[in-house]
Amino acid sequence: MEAAAQFFVESPDVVYGPEAIEAQYEYRTTRVSREGGVLKVHPTSTRFTFRTARQVPRLGVMLVGWGGNNGSTLTAAVLANRLRLSWPTRSGRKEANYYGSLTQAGTVSLGLDAEGQEVFVPFSALLPMVAPNDLVFDGWDISSLNLAEAMRRAKVLDWGLQEQLWPHMEALRPRPSVYIPEFIAANQSARADNLIPGSRAQQLEQIRRDIRDFRSSAGLNKVIVLWTANTERFCEVIPGLNDTAENLLRTIELGLEVSPSTLFAVASILEGCAFLNGSPQNTLVPGALELAWQHRVFVGGDDFKSGQTKVKSVLVDFLIGSGLKTMSIVSYNHLGNNDGENLSAPLQFRSKEVSKSNVVDDMVQSNPVLYTPGEEPDHCVVIKYVPYVGDSKRALDEYTSELMLGGTNTLVLHNTCEDSLLAAPIMLDLALLTELCQRVSFCTDMDPEPQTFHPVLSLLSFLFKAPLVPPGSPVVNALFRQRSCIENILRACVGLPPQNHMLLEHKME
Ligand code: NAD
Repeated sequence: MEAAAQFFVESPDVVYGPEAIEAQYEYRTTRVSREGGVLKVHPTSTRFTFRTARQVPRLGVMLVGWGGNNGSTLTAAVLANRLRLSWPTRSGRKEANYYGSLTQAGTVSLGLDAEGQEVFVPFSALLPMVAPNDLVFDGWDISSLNLAEAMRRAKVLDWGLQEQLWPHMEALRPRPSVYIPEFIAANQSARADNLIPGSRAQQLEQIRRDIRDFRSSAGLNKVIVLWTANTERFCEVIPGLNDTAENLLRTIELGLEVSPSTLFAVASILEGCAFLNGSPQNTLVPGALELAWQHRVFVGGDDFKSGQTKVKSVLVDFLIGSGLKTMSIVSYNHLGNNDGENLSAPLQFRSKEVSKSNVVDDMVQSNPVLYTPGEEPDHCVVIKYVPYVGDSKRALDEYTSELMLGGTNTLVLHNTCEDSLLAAPIMLDLALLTELCQRVSFCTDMDPEPQTFHPVLSLLSFLFKAPLVPPGSPVVNALFRQRSCIENILRACVGLPPQNHMLLEHKME
């Protein structure tokens, strides 16, 4: 790939020091109050100082479910790029790239040049970020296959690429993991041959040892843990069991009910490693969130926003944003990979159904002209397991909206794509952006004490189907609002104003 273009902001508000970039930034927003049926809007301004450490660490990523389709595909993608591999296919030679990654293949506009044309740079050029080719992978899986065998089992990559990657992936072997049968579908039991024995407390200790071992043996400065294992059923949030950090730790000590994913989240937090949940279940129960808060460790989730939901969070935003009243959304999928097989069990499907169903709420609620309070479109989600199609997932969607004067608009979409090739670049972005956020601190004119982002890292919402946000914070699902959030916060860190697309320069005489 072409090297990221270098740029510097020349402004008295931005200082490029040897250790950090420091930017003074005026955050302009508004406060709204309701007074006797009248909305009063007050423009406000807060002065921020953002500080971004420039030193990029040696970063390790531990994947839970490393031997799955996503885990093996992401590992293969990074190796293929690092080794600059190319391979023949029936439609010509293909070269490794990072298409689908916001940070690597997305761009941002820096402004207009002397000719009045916009100048774009890769997203990754905005601030110092870890280069994906430098990532070091490790992880756990309940299946003992090495990563080369896992890649073959996944049937995602062209054969010519698999052959070249084989010797590089053969030596990578997932560490044993925690298998609690009642959390994933019964159809997964046959692959569970690589397990951590012992009590829940002993399993937690083993995961923590694994993280420490990886950090020291690979000579890493930082480790991020990402759950990309099978979708679990929801766990019940019960007072006394998992509602506080203290209760959750006691539950683990006593061997009471805790999901494997929550156990991994707790281990990561206790090791000071950010934990990201790529599946839909409620891993980050209140007790885990409190623990993250106590330890000041970032957590993010839930469920990678890769295909159908990504389209939905654009399309419904477009429909409702244009003033059309969307009344019905029907999303039908079929897929034939192991994720699909796991989701064919009712409780695991339920987790996915919930995570896919709430994704238009913010768009509906944003438009009281179209929807009365509590009114929402019919929204139906179906997932079927069809082994033959493998990782090539099919998504069929129908959106029906009301037009003016009794008209109806029905849009039908058919989307076919390799599921894991959509998910892998998202996993990459999650790791790179989380790591970057760990190097950002800020203070305001009201509060000069430096702070970091809230441990629930809602900046990652663009990458998640059901974004976790700090308590009381609005959930944003609309894709381009989410993208603007990342872009504008990164711009703020180098003292650039938010992207407003006004192009007033071109609207004057
Ligand atoms: P997969 O079934 O191929 O891989 C999951 C892996 O997790 C398997 O190798 C399995 O052995 C392992 N596993 C299960 N329980 C485990 C445990 N307790 N500890 C360690 N390993 C365990 O599935 P996939 O296609 O790679 O998807 C992974 C997850 O990502 C799924 O939950 C899926 O719903 C979610 N997801 C995928 C996409 C996508 O586009 N691919 C999008 C959103 C969410």
